[in-house]
Amino acid sequence: VSDEIDAVLSQLENDNVRSVLLQFSDLEGKPKNVAIPTKQMKKALTDGISFDGSSIQGFARLEESDMLLRPDPATYQIIPWSDEKFRAARFICDVYTTRGEPFAGDPRNILRTQIEKAAELGYTFNVGPEMEFFLFRLVDGHASVNLQDHSGYFDQTPTDPGEDVRRDLVISLSEMGFNIEASHHEVAPSQHEIDFTYGDALGMADKVVTFKFAAKTLALKRGLHATFMPKPIFGINGSGMHVNCSLMKDAKNAFFDPDGDHQLSDTARYFIAGLLKHIDGITRIANPTVNSYKRLIPGYEAPVYVGWSALNRSALIRVPSSRGKSTRAELRSPDPTCNPYLTFAVMLAAGMDGVINKIEPTESIDKNIFRMTPAERAAEGIRCLPWNLQEANNALLQDELLCSVLGEHVVAQINRIGELEWADYSRAITDWEIKRYLPNY
Ligand code: ADP
Ligand code: MG
Ligand code: MG
Ligand code: MG
Ligand code: MG
Repeated sequence: VSDEIDAVLSQLENDNVRSVLLQFSDLEGKPKNVAIPTKQMKKALTDGISFDGSSIQGFARLEESDMLLRPDPATYQIIPWSDEKFRAARFICDVYTTRGEPFAGDPRNILRTQIEKAAELGYTFNVGPEMEFFLFRLVDGHASVNLQDHSGYFDQTPTDPGEDVRRDLVISLSEMGFNIEASHHEVAPSQHEIDFTYGDALGMADKVVTFKFAAKTLALKRGLHATFMPKPIFGINGSGMHVNCSLMKDAKNAFFDPDGDHQLSDTARYFIAGLLKHIDGITRIANPTVNSYKRLIPGYEAPVYVGWSALNRSALIRVPSSRGKSTRAELRSPDPTCNPYLTFAVMLAAGMDGVINKIEPTESIDKNIFRMTPAERAAEGIRCLPWNLQEANNALLQDELLCSVLGEHVVAQINRIGELEWADYSRAITDWEIKRYLPNY
């Protein structure tokens, strides 16, 4: 252990790092960090750095509010946009109680537990998230929904500050160990997507958090506001975070079977069935805001109905056409407001429920579900995703498996946050109501 600590310390010295950000996520996936001077790193690595857990959304109760951050040495990265003379670096941390136990409410710990369970059966969970976001203008230094450009899917706009931000992001993220596959303008004006190569779920959840932090910082440097709000503007496509996923066993993609139906293995089918079985509860985690449900409506490429397909892009779970190493299922409902640790944890647990219990999925839906009539959908037993945060919140409470994955503490906190959010929203008087009712009543 002390060799590892020495290695970290000399790395910091070689890189001329003057300050270190210790990062972690609250229950809602919001990035938190405390900065320490490099001199304090030895203490951080040996004893941890204490903080007040009761001030973090969804963490400790007041009576046990002292908690510890323990930096994970494997997550060391220089912050590429920090001043070269006064380098800043970051570590992502695990959260511990003062008794030295991993904190049950730490999202990273919850994901790690599910990864270890799958590993006992020989499986590695790989995920590839597709990050969509908007770049809006700042107005008097404040975020707005003013469009930065009016381009569309794959458009090239050479003199646009939005393109500059995307390029800055790709460069900085590459320096931070991301393997960028593609970046492009998305369908909606001012909307962008950056895809990076898939990897193990814990490392990818760390990358999602890092991605959001980088996007917000680098956009600001060019006078723009990066937002991961799922549906900022009515009438145009919202931002999703499709999660491509697969299981690996014995260094092979366990979803691929050249002799299977659609060249999919039993494992792939069972995993998909598990995702479908638990999708209502997953939705509370993968779509955690009131606004998330304004995206999950017909007409904008976002999923609405529960089903899977190997042919159809509109399905909740799509199996893209690549096979071999790239055989995967793409869950298309999550949006980038989700906590990626919790989202990957419940997805893995749901999929493994299918694999362990050999659950057969429903028939794949190879028609355009959106063009079917409600009667046709009913005849095929196609359900809808939860319509709003309250429905999803209730669905999670009904899902015993997912509740046990999250643990009593986290379920109670998520339920509290969900109920408060829904109550607050329900009481708000919206612009829609004013326009609709004020002139008429
Ligand atoms: P789309 O066609 O849905 O726009 P993209 O090309 O934007 O898809 O993203 C595909 C994602 O799937 C990438 O992040 C890629 O790394 C990931 N991916 C590829 N193979 C696998 C796999 N075997 N397991 C998980 N993710 C994968
Ligand atoms: Mg994509
Ligand atoms: Mg693509
Ligand atoms: Mg996209
Ligand atoms: Mg996709």
